[in-house]
Amino acid sequence: MALAFVAFASQAATLKSVRMHEAPDSTRVVFDTSAEVKYKIFTLEDPYRVVVDLQNVTPRSGFDPAVAAVGRERVNSLRAAPRDGNYRVVIDTTSALDPKAFTLKPIDPYGHRLVVDLFDPNQKRSQSRQPPLGKDRSVIIAIDAGHGGDDPGAIGPSRILEKQVVMQIARRVQKKLNAVQGFSGVLVRTGDYYLAHRQRTQLARDKRADLFVSIHADAFRQANVHGASVYTLSDRGATSETAAWLAERENRSDLLGGVGHVSLTDKDPVLARVLLDLSMDANRSQSIDAGEAVLANLGRVTKLHKSRVEQAAFLVLKSPDMPSILVETGFISNPGEARRLSQAEHQENVARAIATGVEQFMRENPPPGTLLASQAAGKAPVGDRQYTIVRGDTLSTIAARYGVSSKLLRARNGLSNDTIKVGQVLVIPGG
Ligand SMILES: [Zn+2]
Repeated sequence: MALAFVAFASQAATLKSVRMHEAPDSTRVVFDTSAEVKYKIFTLEDPYRVVVDLQNVTPRSGFDPAVAAVGRERVNSLRAAPRDGNYRVVIDTTSALDPKAFTLKPIDPYGHRLVVDLFDPNQKRSQSRQPPLGKDRSVIIAIDAGHGGDDPGAIGPSRILEKQVVMQIARRVQKKLNAVQGFSGVLVRTGDYYLAHRQRTQLARDKRADLFVSIHADAFRQANVHGASVYTLSDRGATSETAAWLAERENRSDLLGGVGHVSLTDKDPVLARVLLDLSMDANRSQSIDAGEAVLANLGRVTKLHKSRVEQAAFLVLKSPDMPSILVETGFISNPGEARRLSQAEHQENVARAIATGVEQFMRENPPPGTLLASQAAGKAPVGDRQYTIVRGDTLSTIAARYGVSSKLLRARNGLSNDTIKVGQVLVIPGG
């Protein structure tokens, strides 16, 4: 140990770049270095600043830390200079932030990294406040856009990034769910920053989510592989080769996105295991039902990779207290699909399919105390809904799906016959 420490401490490193990501409760500063660095971190008052002393480090020529701070909310400026044989970086912040730092070992495409998270103490408090659960509450759907920050997810042709595409689709899903009476969509990630798998499910739990939907658009080693798929958690092995491959890729995200201490258990391991098994078994079949509803709707707007809900050991789906699904909206490694996934019209279709599947599942499985439960019991009226026609729809199939007559559908929408066209919006009468 002592020898290793000496060798490590004597290694000179180059500071290559510094990057910043802003999250709701913290700002992350990432230092890219050529080797692992030793560092000291402390704060100074008047004005408040965070000082990072990097030992045995020299910046690359032309290094300018100032640009990383431009336009940031919590950081006024970033400056750096050699000092006492160290390289000192000073982060001038707009308020007193609580720094926590850790280093990350190289993982493609990154080399060594030093991560400094600056936590905003005020934000933490307001975030942990939970929404009140009134009578006839809305069901809460946690929509998790995969990846973010240092973890771009899959990278498609012409630099299409999975983290951006899935964020756009997630926002569309949220908008569609919020437009339905009795539904509330909440985004797990709200900007371009990384959240560890465990943080994602914890955030959903804090919001008291009834269902967790993680949205992705991944890559496979063969470019011709395409189509959407839906996954639920399995710890008994993956149902297909693609499922195993994707789960492994996704689980690697915590290393890419940067999590200081990756630990999967924070409770007594035996007790945690028992609790997990009990609650997971109850939620596993619900997850599959939710997945099937979403998959059926996706099949109407895009090709499917697999026509059944698949299972694999995705870390982000390990949330024992809520049904959880992972939607692969398509393969960004397929040039045609990458192009479609970045188009607004296709994103709308995919988002509508996900939202409709979620809605159907929740109406069939309304949690107690929700408006949906009251509606299902006939104690609250079901309001009018809107439906946008997709390819393959006929008036009679829509009428059958919503349990209304074709005649009533025609009357409410002022139609003289059964002709409908793709993109047309129909009012589905409630009652
Ligand atoms: Zn992904």
